[in-house]
Amino acid sequence: VEFAAGAVGVWFGAASGLAGGVVVLGLAVAAVVLLAMTRHRTIALVCFVGILAGIGSGQRTEAARNATWDGIGVVRGTVIQDTTTPQRGFLLRPISLERNGVTQPWSGPVMFVVSGAVPQVDADVAVRGVTTVRSRWVAGRTITTTLRSRDVQILGPPRPWFAIGNKIRARVGGVVTASSRPGSGLLLGFLTGDTSQVSEKVLDDMKRSGLTHAVAVSGSNVALFLAGIWALAGVLRLRPDLRHLLGIVGVWAFVLATRWEPSVIRAAIMVSLVLAGRVVGIPMDGARALSLAVIVSLIVAPDLANNVGFQLSVAATAGILLSGRLWPGRSPQWLWRSLAVSVAAQSAVMPILLWRFGAVPLMSPFVNVVAAPVIAFSTIVGAIGAVVGSGLLVDAGSRGAELVIWLADFAAEWPQLSVAGVVGVAAISWALFSKRVGWVVAVTILVAVAVITRAASPPVAPTVTFLDVGQGDATLLQSPDGKVVLVDGGIDPLVAKAALRSRGIKRIDLVIGTHADADHMAALVEVMSAVSVDRLWVPALQPSAPLLDELIAVANRRGVLVEEVRTGASLTIGAFSLQVLGPSRRFAAENDGSVATWVTVSGSTLLLPGDIGAVAQAEMPPLRPDVMLVPHHGSNTTDIGWLGDTAAGARVVISVGENDFGHPTAEILDALAQADAVVYRTDRDGDIVMEFPAAEE
Ligand SMILES: [Zn+2]
Repeated sequence: VEFAAGAVGVWFGAASGLAGGVVVLGLAVAAVVLLAMTRHRTIALVCFVGILAGIGSGQRTEAARNATWDGIGVVRGTVIQDTTTPQRGFLLRPISLERNGVTQPWSGPVMFVVSGAVPQVDADVAVRGVTTVRSRWVAGRTITTTLRSRDVQILGPPRPWFAIGNKIRARVGGVVTASSRPGSGLLLGFLTGDTSQVSEKVLDDMKRSGLTHAVAVSGSNVALFLAGIWALAGVLRLRPDLRHLLGIVGVWAFVLATRWEPSVIRAAIMVSLVLAGRVVGIPMDGARALSLAVIVSLIVAPDLANNVGFQLSVAATAGILLSGRLWPGRSPQWLWRSLAVSVAAQSAVMPILLWRFGAVPLMSPFVNVVAAPVIAFSTIVGAIGAVVGSGLLVDAGSRGAELVIWLADFAAEWPQLSVAGVVGVAAISWALFSKRVGWVVAVTILVAVAVITRAASPPVAPTVTFLDVGQGDATLLQSPDGKVVLVDGGIDPLVAKAALRSRGIKRIDLVIGTHADADHMAALVEVMSAVSVDRLWVPALQPSAPLLDELIAVANRRGVLVEEVRTGASLTIGAFSLQVLGPSRRFAAENDGSVATWVTVSGSTLLLPGDIGAVAQAEMPPLRPDVMLVPHHGSNTTDIGWLGDTAAGARVVISVGENDFGHPTAEILDALAQADAVVYRTDRDGDIVMEFPAAEE
C-alpha cells in the first residue's frame, strides 16, 4: 500500500507541477490531510513525499514548456518521433535556436514540425521555418509549438541503437506491406503501432468497439515479446538468472525499437524490477512493481502524468492485477479467467475514456475476450514472418488481422455509453448481483436510464440552436429525422464537442466553415475527428489560410466530402433547405468572403451570414428573414442601413462573448431597436434555442 501511495502522490505532484495544477494539488493535499487524521499516517507521509517529488519534476518540465517562441528562425534538435496524424511530420526536441544570425542553446518544449520530408528518428536536424504557439494534440501528448517548414537539413545520423531500431522497423514495414492481403496494414499496426496503412473506417470501428489498444504498441506487446525470449531461453537451456538478464536486455531493446512509447517504458520498468528482484533474491509482486514503475517514470518524465497512453496503460495494468478477485474458482476456468482480465482492464480504463472521449463501448470486454487470442496469434506469427522474411507467415498474420477488422466492423454498431449509461449499467449490475435488491430495482434503473438517454435523441420539431461558444459563432440545425447541420464551431473544441455530446450527436450531415477565423473555424478541426461528418462546405474564391488548410486536410483524411461553395449552391438536409448567397466573387477582406447561407424551414427563413461586412452586404439581394444572425458579432463593419432593412421585425441573434473589440457596438444595438427587432444575445441568454414546428393546416 505504501508503494501505491507513493505512486499516487508523485502522480498528483507531477500533474500539479504542470500547467493548471492548483486544483489537483488542492485535492491531493486534502486527501493527505484526511489520511493523516485517520490511522494511516505512514501512507499519508509517503504520499506527501511523493507529491513534493512530483511537483519538483513537474515544474522543471513546465518551465521548459513555457519557453515557447513565436516567429521565424532555425531550430536544431533531435527527432524523437514521426507522425502521420494530425499531419505528416515529426516531433523535435530542440537543442539550440538561431535568430537574426545569433545561435544560442535553447531547451524549449518538444515541438511538432510539419514538413514534407520526415527524417529518421534520433537524427540531428536543423529546421528553418515559422513557429506558431497553440496547444494541440499530437501522438497522445499536448504540444504547444508547431513549426512549419520546407527546409529540413539533416546534420547527423541516429545513434547506433536507434539506427538498429529504425532498421528493424523499416524491415518489418517492408516485409509486411509487400503482402497483398487486405489485413496487412492492420498487422503492421499490431507490430509497430504504425497505422498509416489502416483506413479511417477501420480505426473508427476499432475505437467504437474498444479495440484501439491493439494498434498502440503497449504492455501486451511486451508480454508477447518476453514470451518469445522465454521460448528461446528454453531452447538454449539457460540458467534462470541468465534467462532473467536476457529478459531485461531484450525488453529494453524492444523499448528502443518501439521508440520510447510511454506504455512500453512502463511495462519494461515493471518487468525489469520483477526480474532483477528474482536475480538478487528480493521477491517483487506486480502491484509494487507497477507503483515503482509509475514513480520512476513520472520523476524522469512528468509530462507522462497527462499522457493518455500512459494513463490507459497504468489503469489497465492495475485492473489486470486486481482481476484475480473477480469470479475466483468458476469453471471452465480459462473462460472466466480471461473474462475477468478483460472486464477488469476495461472497467479500469473506463473513467479515462469517458473523461477524454465522452463515451465507452458497452460490449468491449466481450469483444476483447474474442479478439485477444486472434491479435496475439497475428502478432506472433506476423513478427516471426517479418523477421525471417516469410511471406507465408505474414499472410497468415494478415488473415488474423482481417478477422479483427470484421469483428470491429460488427461490434462498432453496438451501444456506446455516456456517463449516464455507465452509471446505469453499473447500478443494474450491482442490483442484479447483490442479494438484497433484485429484478425490481434493476428494471426501475433500466427505465430511468432509458428516460435519461431519451433526452439526447433528436428533437420532435426542427430546431436551430445558436450555441453559446463565447466570442465566436456556432449554429446547430437539428431535424427530427436525426439529420444535423453545424455552421461554424467557435474557437474552443471542448465547448463544441460538449455541446454535440450533450445532444447525443455522433453524426453530422453537413459542416459549414464560413471563413478561416479561429472564432468560427478553430473548433471544427477537432469536431471533424470527434464525430463522423459527411460533408464540409468552405468558402470558394478565398486565398489559402493555415486554419482553412488544416480543416480541409483533416476532412480529406477522414473521407469527408469537401466542397468549396459560392453563390448558387444549394442542398436540402432533413427539414432544412439551404441556399448559398455568398461569396459571389473574390473580396479583398476575408470576412466578406464568408459562406452566407439562407435557410428555409417549416415556412420560416433564416439568414446565417458569417462575418460579412458592408462591401458584401451591399451586393446581397434585398432580404427579409424571420430569424437572422447579426454579422461579425455586432461589429461596426456592418452597414447600418442594410441591417435596419434586413432585420426589420425579425428575431435577431448576436453571438458574442467577452471581447476587447467592443462587440456589439451601440450603433448596431440602436439600429436593431429602431428596426423593431427582437434581440437575443448568447453572452446574456446562453444557448438560444428556436423551434420551427410546421404550421397546422
Ligand atoms: Zn467572427
